[in-house]
Amino acid sequence: MKLEIPTQVAKILDKFEKANYEIYIVGGAVRDILMGKSVYDWDFTTNATPDKMLKIFPDAFYDNVFGTIGISSDIEGERPYEITTFRTEHGYSDARRPDKVEWGKTLEEDLKRRDFTINALALDITDHRSPTTDHTLITVEAKIIDLFNGQSDIKKRLIRAVGDPNERFSEDALRMMRAIRIAAELGFTIEEKTFEAINVNATLINKISKERVKDELLKILASPNPYDGMLLFKNSLLMQEILPEMEKTFGVEQKSPGRHHIYDVGTHSMLSLKYVAEKNKNPIVRLATLIHDIAKPITFKKLETGTITFYNHEILGAIIAKRIADRLRFSNKEKDKFYRLVRWHQFSVDEHQTDSALRRFIRRVGLENLADILDLRTGDRLGGGARETSWRLEEFKKRLIEVQKQPFTVHDLKIKGNDVMEIMGIPPGPKVGEILQKLFDEVVEKKMDNERSDLLKRLNELK
Ligand code: ATP
Ligand code: MG
Repeated sequence: MKLEIPTQVAKILDKFEKANYEIYIVGGAVRDILMGKSVYDWDFTTNATPDKMLKIFPDAFYDNVFGTIGISSDIEGERPYEITTFRTEHGYSDARRPDKVEWGKTLEEDLKRRDFTINALALDITDHRSPTTDHTLITVEAKIIDLFNGQSDIKKRLIRAVGDPNERFSEDALRMMRAIRIAAELGFTIEEKTFEAINVNATLINKISKERVKDELLKILASPNPYDGMLLFKNSLLMQEILPEMEKTFGVEQKSPGRHHIYDVGTHSMLSLKYVAEKNKNPIVRLATLIHDIAKPITFKKLETGTITFYNHEILGAIIAKRIADRLRFSNKEKDKFYRLVRWHQFSVDEHQTDSALRRFIRRVGLENLADILDLRTGDRLGGGARETSWRLEEFKKRLIEVQKQPFTVHDLKIKGNDVMEIMGIPPGPKVGEILQKLFDEVVEKKMDNERSDLLKRLNELK
């Protein structure tokens, strides 16, 4: 087949060929090319060992755990080109990492150790002429090497393990998360035997470092199909291991006489995720929406009247959110956002609230999370069978914008202490702060706007 690749890639291939080594394009790049998608991550495999590669590319960076060398791409947005020596792997005694990595002798050995058939394809670029063009892209002739029917699985949109799925997942349990992540990213399904093997091996995921699990989980959530991804996550029994608190929300009823809920807590949560994803791409916001009601199972009360209540579920939910964030090694920034979204998701949009109540709400949620919590609310509403919005919610949004025009603290005033000292002719001291506070109060009471000229005029009056 004919194919366009970056000229820089062709030059790399050419150098290997000239030094008499085999080299192939492998992994996600081949999959993406065959699916007609653009490639942003090029991986290569070769029979040259790392020390030999470093002779050809002395400036490359070298990761000596896996014997991969990296070469920066000239194209913006592309990850570095990674070239790895053929490998075979033996003896995964702890479901985590190979006891030893050995260089393989053939391409076949290398493809056999890869996770899924659609990832075990290789491309041999057959017309190595020294590329001289200055163009970023070059057209070349390529041959597909497909030892495990990967092309047929791409057509069927299937994720299928290479070889025996049980063996492959017990060798490396992270592959189970990868299966779901790639399915969610590509909109593929997981082949039946491969999926059954995830069910059987799900508990092994606990052997994998939480950082790597978090990475895959957030990629599932950030994908174009987070709802389908989380459904696979639940049905494969991995949710029970990684987010057991979430698993417990399924089947918890919340339908009360005269109340709006039509789904159990878990189903409602999943649908909330589905709808929030139409508005918001941030995986932390999507996860917060999924787990916003996570404390409902532990706050569930059924009154004699038949009414079901979940008092304080947002407070306890936020505590659980923190626990999940710690467990999955979220950064402090991610954890803060995650916590606040869950903690304040029950916000009231009552039109009788005062401006200062709205300002308090903004302070609690954090200005940077304000749009996100409104998206969460939209997901929550749609996921509960309500309309997307209400006139109250729309009014509330307008008021949020209005109250932001007012300063939040004395520091937001359009004049500073220096202005006060200069105009009033007073030295630094508590008096300066008192005057600023007085002006701030007057702005909040809407006696004047937070405009520099208005504030200076007012200072002159106070002189
Ligand atoms: P993308 O880069 O688009 O996320 P990818 O398939 O290239 O997808 P990488 O993580 O870059 O994923 O891995 C490159 C290749 O290495 C994969 O296509 C697969 O062949 C192999 N691979 C990665 N992780 C594993 C694993 N845990 N077990 C077996 N093979 C793996
Ligand atoms: Mg890749």
